[in-house]
Amino acid sequence: MMKAWILKTPASVDTRPLLFGDVPTPNVGDDELLVRVSACGICRTDLHVVEGELPVRLSPVIPGHQIVGRVAGVGSQVADFAINDRVGIAWLNRTCGKCEYCLSSRENLCDRALFTGWSVNGGYAEYAIAPASFTYRIPDNFEDIQAAPLLCAGIIGYRCLRLTGLSVNEWRGARLGIYGFGAAGHICIQLARSRGVEVYVCTRDRERHQALAHELGAAWVGDAAEDPPVKLDTAIIFAPAGELVPIALKALAKGGTLILGGIHMSPIPSFDYSLIYGERMVRSVANNTREDGQEFLLEAARIPVHTHVQTFPFDQVNEALIALKHDAIRGAGVIVRT
Ligand SMILES: [Zn+2]
Ligand SMILES: [Zn+2]
Repeated sequence: MMKAWILKTPASVDTRPLLFGDVPTPNVGDDELLVRVSACGICRTDLHVVEGELPVRLSPVIPGHQIVGRVAGVGSQVADFAINDRVGIAWLNRTCGKCEYCLSSRENLCDRALFTGWSVNGGYAEYAIAPASFTYRIPDNFEDIQAAPLLCAGIIGYRCLRLTGLSVNEWRGARLGIYGFGAAGHICIQLARSRGVEVYVCTRDRERHQALAHELGAAWVGDAAEDPPVKLDTAIIFAPAGELVPIALKALAKGGTLILGGIHMSPIPSFDYSLIYGERMVRSVANNTREDGQEFLLEAARIPVHTHVQTFPFDQVNEALIALKHDAIRGAGVIVRT
């Protein structure tokens, strides 16, 4: 048996719906790794799972999908991992490998994909399992705690930058807007700055998020609904707030792309055609491919990205999610097992 945080019925996180208890330690499948969890990053998607904004896929479920740990069991068909290897498990847990999406380098869109901490059990537990082929090796220059937020916040920020459509040569001097400055935003700005981008950050939290954005080299920091002083070449909304879409479109230069980085967003209000006219585009990001993850981890190690983390002990998972919901975390929150 192992200790884990279990969600039986989605409810407001303020009611502390995750229950701490004993569950069977998972059996490792032929193509899987059993991982002893040392750190698990918290993510806004966990809130959407716990509070029921995402439909129930597995019940009861152990949430958590930014898992860093050491291999404690190796499936019979796994050749390239060994006991004690340090690995990361991310949101995309498994895909079918056979559908039109999987066969065209778009496995992030697979209809039969499984997701860690939503449709399979995740990392708010002593152990987790995942297919070896969907597991990442963590670059040596990151401590476990620093590495955890890279596995969703980091990878998704990377994919958002990719889907803006700007090529490697177009980044230098480009003006990027970031709306919402939590875990993903604070990593994304570091990638953008290293590519020579001017970053304009719009976020409602002054005390933590605006201060961190200044510290990480934002050219300008304002309130969530404030107009940046320049037109943006591209922008990313990380906050789950649909009302930011017309606001961000208004700040976007002609031909620019607005990326929506979240898995869930409140309804987008209707807006005048003039806001999107001028060949502006709106595009969501849905999950990520393994290639995104591998490329991002290499870039993050090379820069190197420095994640700002606020740690919570393993017995404080509800408290960590409450803090996330109320914008009370500076950078990324991470659950640490000792
Ligand atoms: Zn598929
Ligand atoms: Zn996530």
